[in-house]
Amino acid sequence: MKRQNGIILISLLLLTTFAVHAQNVVFTHQDSLRGTITNERAWWDLLYYHLDVTVNPVDSSLKGQNTIRFRVLAPFQTMQIDLQEPMHITKVMLEKEELLFRRDGNAYFITLTQKQTTGDFNQITVSFEGKPQVSKRPPWSGGLSWKRDKNNNPLIVTTCQGDGASLWWPCKDHQYDEPDSMLMTVTVPEGLTEVSNGRLRSVTLNPGNTKTFTWFVSNPINNYCVNLNIADYVHFGETYKGEKGILDCDYYVLPYNLDKAKQQFSEVPRMLEALEYWFGPYPFYEDSYKLVEVPYPGMEHQSSVTYGNDYKNGYKQTDESNTGWGLKFDFIIVHESAHEWFGNSITTKDIADMWVHESFGAYSESLFLNYHFGKQACSDYVIGTRAKIRNDRPIIGPYDVNTEGSGDMYFKGANMLHTLRQVINDDEKFRQMIRGLSKTFYHQTVTTQQVENYMSEAAGMNLTSFFNQYLRDIRIPVFEYQLDKSILKYRWTNCVTGFNIPIKISVNKTTNWLNPTSEWKTVTVKKGSTINTDINFYIMSKNLDIH
Ligand SMILES: [Zn+2]
Repeated sequence: MKRQNGIILISLLLLTTFAVHAQNVVFTHQDSLRGTITNERAWWDLLYYHLDVTVNPVDSSLKGQNTIRFRVLAPFQTMQIDLQEPMHITKVMLEKEELLFRRDGNAYFITLTQKQTTGDFNQITVSFEGKPQVSKRPPWSGGLSWKRDKNNNPLIVTTCQGDGASLWWPCKDHQYDEPDSMLMTVTVPEGLTEVSNGRLRSVTLNPGNTKTFTWFVSNPINNYCVNLNIADYVHFGETYKGEKGILDCDYYVLPYNLDKAKQQFSEVPRMLEALEYWFGPYPFYEDSYKLVEVPYPGMEHQSSVTYGNDYKNGYKQTDESNTGWGLKFDFIIVHESAHEWFGNSITTKDIADMWVHESFGAYSESLFLNYHFGKQACSDYVIGTRAKIRNDRPIIGPYDVNTEGSGDMYFKGANMLHTLRQVINDDEKFRQMIRGLSKTFYHQTVTTQQVENYMSEAAGMNLTSFFNQYLRDIRIPVFEYQLDKSILKYRWTNCVTGFNIPIKISVNKTTNWLNPTSEWKTVTVKKGSTINTDINFYIMSKNLDIH
């Protein structure tokens, strides 16, 4: 997703208040049910969903059933399935038997007929209906959007990152577990086209003026990426010859935007070329790549990235970096597509670790520029975005309560990665590290620790204190120095214990590397030298001689 720029200014005061009291936020029983791998979740491994849903624009309702196939990991009899008010589950079947269930807020506890046997495969079918919550501000607030296009045709879309897919369909609503594949059967009014994730298998005309679209996702998919987009779409497409062969690219747009889309979506092959270079092969060749027009800025829906950036460069024609470079690309196409690697192929188990999605998502913008316009463009852009860093609270949020950390996971996260790239001081090694992450954690759910450990190993240095500094602390490390005749004294301050990244400085315009720690160190330089730290490092420097 894109960081919510709009509300930053108006709610700055509120955010500051929140930052102070962040550690005192009281989480509810419902937060824990939603964010914890409860006993009622842990015993079964999700294998497959078949979501069959009928969308009725007349009364803004959904009705359908979800068949959930699973493997039994431990003997247990109660299963947690999530569905949020005002939606409700009407019936749960296991083969021909109707199962009893109890509702606790947004969680349903279903009693299976008998204790399940480890290793067995089983499936239940959950029937549901209701008028789902309407999104007040998609994609930042979840729900359905029942809109109209310029021709007054229905334009119906879902968004649910953060709030959860259980806003509109019953599922195991926790990021740690994903189905290996998913079938979606969506019935809509006859004149409309429905676009979901994966590949379109069939379109069936039904009696009663409805049409059923069947989509199949052949790869693991996270819950919040499952989406419906229903409109008077027109389709065009192309193929892209990428690292893993031929990738089908399909575009669904509103008819009056077709010409603009054909022009603007020439960004897609440029994006794929740059991101495959940095991140490795696009992770869902089997499911294709899609862009689908929606009435909100955009979202990383897996293999059906949704697009609402007005067919113009920048983010809503603005440059996130204020350097001019942000207008050289379509922000939504680059940023949201980058999540196919970081977010969709690699998904964090807990949204507290969401930096893995958004820091790479945000840095992809700079890497795109790096690929097409060179290293200076990359540096200028990522440094330009520092103005938006708040350092209000840590990037990593509290665990097990479905809560994100600071919005700094975007621009501070990107600057952290850019700083790490300087520390590694070998762009090819840095690139192979990112490609290695894509390969090692391909189609997996991960913890920040796994990612941090991998990066330490790949970098060949212990990055524990580096990640603690930028992900778990809000202070910007300060390179403190003092020049006493020809002796340069230096150290890190305002930092976590053990913070010790090497830093590139220039002494009278000659590059030098220093290895500061929190203890003073010295080096001999020419008397009266001018010292500058490399601006690519996201740190501050302080000359103690200047008061
Ligand atoms: Zn994002």
